[in-house]
Amino acid sequence: MATTARKPRKTAAKASAAKDGTQDGKLIYTFAEGNASMRSTLGGKGAGLAEMTNAGLPVPPGFTITTQACNAYYEAGKEMPPGLWDDVVAHMRKLEQQTGKGFGDPANPLLVSVRSGAAFSMPGMMDTVLNLGLNPDTVQGLIGLTGNERFAWDAWRRFVAMFGRIVLGLKAEDFDEPFEELKHEVRAKLDTDLTAEQLRDIGNRFAEIVREKTGDEFPTDPYRQLELAVRAVFDSWFGKRAHDYREFNRIPHDLGTAVNVVTMVFGNMGDDSGTGVAFTRDPNTGERALYGEYLTNAQGEDVVAGVRTPDKISQMRDAMPEVYTQFEEIAQRLEGHYRDMQDLEFTIERGTLYMLQTRSGKRTAPAAIRIAVDMVNEGVLTREEALQRVDPAQIVQLLLPRFDEAAKERMGDRLLGKGLNASPGAAVGQAIFDPDRAVEAKEAGNPVILVRIETSPDDVHGMLAAKGVLTARGGATSHAAVVARSMGLPCVAGAESLKIDYARRQMRAGTVTVAEGEMISIDGTTGEIYAGELPTIEARFEDEHELATLLSWADDVRRLQVWANADYPRDAERARAFGAQGIGLCRTEHMFFEEDRLPTVRRMILNAHTATAARAKSDSERTDEDREALATFDAALAELEKLQTDDFAGLFRAMDGLPVVIRLIDPPLHEFLPSYEELVADVTRLRTTLDLTAGSLGVDAGLVQQGLVKLFGTKDAARAMRKLGLSDPEPALQRSPATDRPALEAELAEREELLHAVEAMREQNPMLGLRGVRLGLMVPDVVKMQTRAILAGAARVAAEGLTPLPEIMIPLVGHVNELRETRQILEAEVARIVEASGQQVNYKFGTMIEVPRGALTADEIAEHAEFFSFGTNDLTQMGFGYSRDDAEGKFLMQYVDRKILPENPFQVLDVGGIGQLVRMGVEKGRATKKDLKIGICGEHGGDPQSIAFCHEVGLNYVSCSPFRVPVARLAAAQAAIASTETRDK
Ligand code: ADP
Ligand code: MG
Ligand code: MG
Repeated sequence: MATTARKPRKTAAKASAAKDGTQDGKLIYTFAEGNASMRSTLGGKGAGLAEMTNAGLPVPPGFTITTQACNAYYEAGKEMPPGLWDDVVAHMRKLEQQTGKGFGDPANPLLVSVRSGAAFSMPGMMDTVLNLGLNPDTVQGLIGLTGNERFAWDAWRRFVAMFGRIVLGLKAEDFDEPFEELKHEVRAKLDTDLTAEQLRDIGNRFAEIVREKTGDEFPTDPYRQLELAVRAVFDSWFGKRAHDYREFNRIPHDLGTAVNVVTMVFGNMGDDSGTGVAFTRDPNTGERALYGEYLTNAQGEDVVAGVRTPDKISQMRDAMPEVYTQFEEIAQRLEGHYRDMQDLEFTIERGTLYMLQTRSGKRTAPAAIRIAVDMVNEGVLTREEALQRVDPAQIVQLLLPRFDEAAKERMGDRLLGKGLNASPGAAVGQAIFDPDRAVEAKEAGNPVILVRIETSPDDVHGMLAAKGVLTARGGATSHAAVVARSMGLPCVAGAESLKIDYARRQMRAGTVTVAEGEMISIDGTTGEIYAGELPTIEARFEDEHELATLLSWADDVRRLQVWANADYPRDAERARAFGAQGIGLCRTEHMFFEEDRLPTVRRMILNAHTATAARAKSDSERTDEDREALATFDAALAELEKLQTDDFAGLFRAMDGLPVVIRLIDPPLHEFLPSYEELVADVTRLRTTLDLTAGSLGVDAGLVQQGLVKLFGTKDAARAMRKLGLSDPEPALQRSPATDRPALEAELAEREELLHAVEAMREQNPMLGLRGVRLGLMVPDVVKMQTRAILAGAARVAAEGLTPLPEIMIPLVGHVNELRETRQILEAEVARIVEASGQQVNYKFGTMIEVPRGALTADEIAEHAEFFSFGTNDLTQMGFGYSRDDAEGKFLMQYVDRKILPENPFQVLDVGGIGQLVRMGVEKGRATKKDLKIGICGEHGGDPQSIAFCHEVGLNYVSCSPFRVPVARLAAAQAAIASTETRDK
């Protein structure tokens, strides 16, 4: 390589050093030059290796080509940017000096690994190539040097296969198949059973395969190998998988990847050598103990690839006590240094330990919480830091259902086997043996358990589609286990008793065969696998002590209160147990939907308009129809009032001493009636049936049928009826025509009446139609009834010695007059109640802000409200002009995919637009009433990102579904911490 032709890099001369040690234009750093804070330049792996090197830990020497070099490579049209290659060569020379070996020197060969490493780990990045620098000459050198032929040929065959697959793009099968054939031929069970000659032959065969498949000789020049490998790392940054992953996770494309070149150390030099992976704490439970696996006489990926099933790290204590102690010390030091649980990779070469990687370890939700809490108790973290260490989404995971232990006992005979409990949680779904088909099954609406012999990054899309993952090979640090944990997916790994047959799409466990599509249940907490569907039970929040501790710290820090949306006492109780400080939204209409109430609700609705008009007339003006409608309407209302009084009393009881916001009826009335289309179909069907039985032929079909039966017998009569186009004779046979007709006619009349009523109420845009406050103004009796029920429910509970705190909320207000008028109706009713009972009542009166005009005129509206609650679902609908039901089904997901919108605005509050309406509503509302209490009750109230915004604009509380209350408590604390931090800056 010509290194003399070019001038020294001018950038190096004027390089300015930043605080973290990065220098402008510097494209390569030795491990000694880097540190942990240079993650964006060196990538996560490179920064970790540098940090360990500087901490004096045993790291094989090496260097990191920066992420900036990767970007420069792209800018140069996939060419090495000026100076880079010379710099690589110079650093290789330096490595040669450091190690006393020569790159390509047959007498004493230097071998290296080439490892990709971006700031974030991501699928699709180039796999690591080990043993680079080997060729037929240097293999001989390795033999001469070590006297270990088996080792040298093992390294050779690994290198050729790895380089062929990873750098030259051949398929894994191209090497795996001949390798398995050889093993089969010589009856070797494990790789380690092969002899030196067999390994040599297979390595040479691999080189031939490369020539056959690529048309080129296997590259033997070490620098050529290195150049190809470095380029392959850069190229993988823009490979499809990595690109898609970044798109999906919103990671910028211009971060680039670094390339690490590391002197090889060998775990495959015999039984005093080995390689392993370990976490400083148990990533499943968080328990403070080394957790990991290792393999003796093995290299690199053997542990995670599931080639052999590894030993537990604790066994290393017995096998290599000194190395184990040293490793344990290093593990503790690194954890203390990073103040976080670490995921470590190491290799032992003839009794000497080398550290090859350290990074913050992925962990399950329970582990994340336990580790955060423990580290506070150990004095490592402050409470604030601990609160920031847990992702609010992980809390959801902790509250996921588990399998019912009793059912497990009962179904013991369905146990298919047991694997490693690699990622906790219960999952039930169809066994699917292929990632693409897993995606299809999910799209068809079926729950999926992805079942694979082992997984690789190529399976990730299938894992994303699955409820759980099951593998037959691999340990607790295998790809399947690590990825499943990070996704919060239950996973059972290494269930070796399962015989998975991809070709037949089935698996066998003993005598049982499970075909693709059959249901199985896996328990990632215990490792058990069952045939069929096991029932699940709810998680017990009360038993999560560490979570309770963490959340109590969150409560000390947060400013936002957390309330819950709950319609039934049962939900209110759960919400309260989860820590809700009030009910922010009770949707009274949900009570109307209950099946036994619906007929009453319908009677009320069908007569509402006539009755309301009739009520305004004097008695003498009323027609009979008016009187009947009024009577039916009042009776229905009275019935509902009784039911709602009970409902509200139940809620007040459950929330004793805490506020309960009750929203008066909101949706368009037709939602309570059968659909127009359904009714049209019914009426048509009934009319046709009647026509036929009456006989478009002018005869009674029943009589025709009876005649036919006499003539031909039942079966032929039926056929004849069908030919005549008469209705299905079977049911008709059972009913005598005489009783049939009147029943059908009555049904038709009833359906027709309903159809007319529904037709009259039909709206083009019901979500923008007669609903919310508008409905209350058109049918004030409903408002009055609900007010009476709320206050009566409160009075009843107060009489029991409890403290009900009702807050009455009016939905969909867009103009101050709507609220003023509703308030008058409501207050008049309250006055009557007070007069009748002789007792004072306490309640608050407020409104939702969910129509954009409401937010824009919040100052006027605040005159008549004691509180606001932002209904951000409707505010988003109306602010964007999207009908949610149509949008989410039709184009919204595409919008998100195509980046027309950054997120689904119904999930994450659109801060730039809808958020401005919220901000304005808060400012204007408080300009009128300084102490106006303001909350949010849209679904955004449970979304961490949106909660941060709610904190920022100064809401008093967020209200979310009961299950999200713990999530919101943590998110609110994180928002408070983040805003103090920015303020302090
Ligand atoms: P990944 O990001 O997939 O973990 P790594 O670059 O860490 O990839 O390497 C894969 C495997 O190869 C690991 O087990 C690691 O310990 C091993 N390895 C990497 N570099 C070396 C080296 N220089 N000597 C020995 N083993 C190595
Ligand atoms: Mg690694
Ligand atoms: Mg609404």
